[in-house]
Amino acid sequence: MGQLMEKYIEDAEKALLHTYNRYQIVLDKGEGVYLYDLEGKKYLDFVAGIAVFALGYGNQEYNDTLKGQIDKLLHTSNYYYNVPAIEAAKRIKKLSGMDRVFFTNSGAEAIEGAIKAARKYAFLKDGTTDHEIIAMNHSFHGRTMGALSVTGNAHYREAFEPGIGNIKFADYNDFDSVLACVTDKTCAIIMETVQGEGGLTPATEDFLKKVRALCDEKDMLLILDEIQCGMGRTGYNFAWQKFGVKPDIMTSAKALGCGVPVGAFMMNEKVGRNSLVAGDHGTTYGGNPLACAAVNKVLEIFERDDIAGHVQEVGPYLWEKLDELMAKHPQIKEHRGTGLMQGLVFEEPVAPIINKALENGLILINAGANILRFVPPLVIEKADVDAMVAILDKCID
Ligand SMILES: *Cc1c(COP(=O)(O)O)cnc(C)c1O
Repeated sequence: MGQLMEKYIEDAEKALLHTYNRYQIVLDKGEGVYLYDLEGKKYLDFVAGIAVFALGYGNQEYNDTLKGQIDKLLHTSNYYYNVPAIEAAKRIKKLSGMDRVFFTNSGAEAIEGAIKAARKYAFLKDGTTDHEIIAMNHSFHGRTMGALSVTGNAHYREAFEPGIGNIKFADYNDFDSVLACVTDKTCAIIMETVQGEGGLTPATEDFLKKVRALCDEKDMLLILDEIQCGMGRTGYNFAWQKFGVKPDIMTSAKALGCGVPVGAFMMNEKVGRNSLVAGDHGTTYGGNPLACAAVNKVLEIFERDDIAGHVQEVGPYLWEKLDELMAKHPQIKEHRGTGLMQGLVFEEPVAPIINKALENGLILINAGANILRFVPPLVIEKADVDAMVAILDKCID
């Protein structure tokens, strides 16, 4: 590392709260699927800001849209209508088949809204409170108190208890363990359609279908968190579309704005008509014209350029190449995931491999200590996969 980055990193460690063990690079600019650090070194990016920058860096059409919106109107209150929010909501409805959209600033806030909608739905039904939500072990839903309370990782929650309460944890892909959590107070079941942070595990079709049927039978709401696995990452606009198991409430964020902070929770008409009403929920920034201009343009490009279709071609290629890598290296125990959301499970912590990759111009990230996670920009080509695998291959030994 040169002096320039060293100086900035020193300053950062004095000024920023130490909530991350950061990799020792200062990123400065992006171009396509490449990032550059402050000293001009080029990196192939297989992280995309953790499943955010789906379109790659410097997409001119997207950038021009943002610049135009900045000059026109950055923000206005949700007490007034604005065209980008209306257009973005219409596009979300079309791509997801959900009926009602609420824009947030982040993924965690989308989860908070989903929880509030589910509780209100149950409250309106029986006039009581203290309803329960079933969440999954190894899930990740965000860092705010409500989202943290449904996150199935005790380590993340421990110091911050009590959470919002009345949450039960079942095992992912184990329907009997879900059944065992159901009481007459259960109002919702929340899960990621593909677990990201928890280890790149997709829900099985059988599990999703059984949970959907259970929710229908008991009038409980199915909340699917598509914050990481949605927006084309699995080769479908939203991961549940592969199995046709439609949620009552869905959350989105990360690639929804491709870099502009924005999330959303969406619901079907049944929940829309019987949950949150005026005065129940709000946000100052959520869904402001800048954020929604980004969402609108991202969704326009997704649809026009068939980004999900591209993932259906490149995803299996990445799968094949990572399988070959696993066959070569006995320290790789398992290969998980789907589409452009894959993971390699190692015997030991992967931090040394990630640091080695950085030295060699490749940006990778973990999911848990022992799993290498691959969530690249969705616009990567097969040649980028080859380039990544060639570098990683050298870094494993
Ligand atoms: C990242 C993530 C969140 C939290 O989103 P933030 O924007 O960081 O609040 C929630 N759920 C899943 C599945 C995620 O991957």
